[in-house]
Amino acid sequence: MRRVTILGATGSIGQNTIDLIDRNRDAYQVVALTGGRNIERLARDAIRLGAEVAVTAHDDLLDDLRAALGQSGVAAAAGAEALTEAAARPADWVMSAIIGAAGLRPGLAALEQGTTLALANKETLVAAGALVMQTARSKGGTIIPVDSEHSAVFQALGGEDMASVERVILTASGGAFRDWPIEKLRSATPEQAATHPNWDMGQRITIDSASMFNKALEVIEAREFFGLAPDQIEVLIHPESMVHALVGHVDGGILAHLGAPDMRHAIGYALHWPERAPLPVERLDLAKLGQLTFRAPDMARYPALDLARQVMERGGLAGAAFNAAKERALDGFIAGHISFTDMADVVGRVLDRIEARPGHIDAPFTLDNVLQMDHLARYEADNVMAERQ
Ligand code: NAD
Ligand code: MG
Repeated sequence: MRRVTILGATGSIGQNTIDLIDRNRDAYQVVALTGGRNIERLARDAIRLGAEVAVTAHDDLLDDLRAALGQSGVAAAAGAEALTEAAARPADWVMSAIIGAAGLRPGLAALEQGTTLALANKETLVAAGALVMQTARSKGGTIIPVDSEHSAVFQALGGEDMASVERVILTASGGAFRDWPIEKLRSATPEQAATHPNWDMGQRITIDSASMFNKALEVIEAREFFGLAPDQIEVLIHPESMVHALVGHVDGGILAHLGAPDMRHAIGYALHWPERAPLPVERLDLAKLGQLTFRAPDMARYPALDLARQVMERGGLAGAAFNAAKERALDGFIAGHISFTDMADVVGRVLDRIEARPGHIDAPFTLDNVLQMDHLARYEADNVMAERQ
């Protein structure tokens, strides 16, 4: 039996992971499930899957979690420390599906034990790529990407030497507003931004898809994970979301990965790696589909992509600043404090302000410095947003 842990079990990726484990429950022993405020769901799944421990991120919900677990024998815990401890419990496979920079410490704790980490939490690589990759190497752990584009690149590479790779192309649906007139974007509401044309995902990543901040994070994620130079990573708008990524080789050949837009493919691939197992995802009927379309992204519509380039060229702790500023700007948009188009503006200003503070971005790449940069960028984002009101 494989011992598995799911960090962020109550979210969209977490629930899809549980769906796959449920289909072959005898093969897995569930070590830990973690969640946030949805105690009912966390407790229900922990009891059903016979987890050793269930952890909520919120200290104030410990009593509720205990009550919901009742006499089931599943232990209850709460708070950030408990999350990290749960991730450090011996397991063969850990799904990192917490959203945001909150996933960094638990993800690192899992890697410290040399496990296989299925990484959905892209923010981990954006904020602390060097640290995360180094931890995996030094502890003998393995990271399998779960972001659909990165899973696609990983699969298209098929273990081939990176020296033969000329470029990687990540596809993007273009999000909720890809066909909106650009001048209308300013008035877009969070509800409108949270509807994705193809993928069924959590609210935050769906809004990030509309602003293309999600793709901006993914470009940086690809650079960190595959060790690519910034100019080796391209973005292509592909409204059908059937081709998830393409790998271009030095001989001009391109290998693409196709599949239905269902995250259970990338999750299942990471779960069964290095083998493949049958998965309950829709099979593509290309004849029925008829055509697949591609176009270059309009950089005026998607300023987040340009910010990602700047961040990659800057290096150091710029990724941690970018991610944290983006998280706060997204909070501000969801709360109605700033407009949809203000998000990129806020993030750009935060990066400028941090750049103006000598030494911060070039501080040594330690976890403490990453977390300090994260705090600083959130603080500056709040300042920038307050000044606009
Ligand atoms: P979600 O919002 O649906 O779920 C997030 C999970 O994290 C929940 O279990 C929640 O309780 C937990 N969580 C939230 N804040 C937390 C905190 N501060 N501390 C601890 N736990 C916390 O998110 P999601 O859409 O499942 O995305 C999870 C991760 O996977 C993200 O990094 C996202 O970018 C990535 N991802 C998601 C998809 C997708 O299809 N949803 C696709 C690719 C990548
Ligand atoms: Mg993705």
